[in-house]
Amino acid sequence: MSGQAYPADNQTLGELIDNVTSQLRSADIEDPRREARRLVTEVLALDAAAALANPNAIITAKGALHIRDASARRAAHEPLSRILGSREFYGRTFQLSADTLDPRPDTEALIEFALELMSNHIANDISLRILDIGTGSGCIAVTLACELPKSKVIATDISAGALKTAVLNADRHSVADHITFVETDGLRDVEGAFDLVVSNPPYIRSSTLTDLDPEVLNHDPLRALDGGQDGLKFYRQWISQLASLVPRAAVVLEVGADCHGNGQHAEDSQAEQVQALLRNAFNRQTITKKDLSGHTRCVAIAPVKP
Ligand code: GLN
Repeated sequence: MSGQAYPADNQTLGELIDNVTSQLRSADIEDPRREARRLVTEVLALDAAAALANPNAIITAKGALHIRDASARRAAHEPLSRILGSREFYGRTFQLSADTLDPRPDTEALIEFALELMSNHIANDISLRILDIGTGSGCIAVTLACELPKSKVIATDISAGALKTAVLNADRHSVADHITFVETDGLRDVEGAFDLVVSNPPYIRSSTLTDLDPEVLNHDPLRALDGGQDGLKFYRQWISQLASLVPRAAVVLEVGADCHGNGQHAEDSQAEQVQALLRNAFNRQTITKKDLSGHTRCVAIAPVKP
């Protein structure tokens, strides 16, 4: 901070945003003004458009104090979602905890892909049995349960802390009756038939974890990121087990985009490697879907027709 008396009494919204902007700029936060606007409006729970139309509105001393704390945390590269304790995913709000990955907009592509692949089942009003492996905050399981109200979901995670948060999120969105949460390693002890299996497993290569942005490295649980030496550890484990558990199901998996911020691409993209694992295990064709940034983000096999 640059030493100005802050928060000052009777600050206006415009002044507050200016102060936060300069603090974030000094901390090398990208797009500091946009971040400052989001931080101020979200921490104060203001309607963003209305707030920006009223830059002369006076902010209470208490509100300004909240902003000061949040701004210091953001300047230390804590993501806004962690500061707020929640994140929007597929139009719904999800609570986060230290044990959960912060759901990414990229993962919304997985939801869309799953809904596309199951469109026949959905059109025929068939209730789906869904398995979500490594549910974290429950963003995928809860979203699918909300979008497909007739479905029954089993969601696993190795972390008891993550499951606690996932249960809260299921309650918050009124789908707790449709989801069974299981504390286990991957799909160990999971039994039963499924029409659709989804997962966003940890997929970062261990040796590149330290290249991640501080927002990710210091605030997402490492266990939710670390995919082992080549990043494929969990795909390998889970795909071979799935092929015997659900040989006819649809499987939709998120993969890493293999972009390391310096334009360097791995020889074989993770998408290609995971497709090869799926083809070998299931002996079926694979398909892919890109995220909004144009990276191949999901690989899948379509369900065998009933
Ligand atoms: N399924 C959760 C998500 O997509 C958690 C994923 C993980 O922890 N790797 O956010």
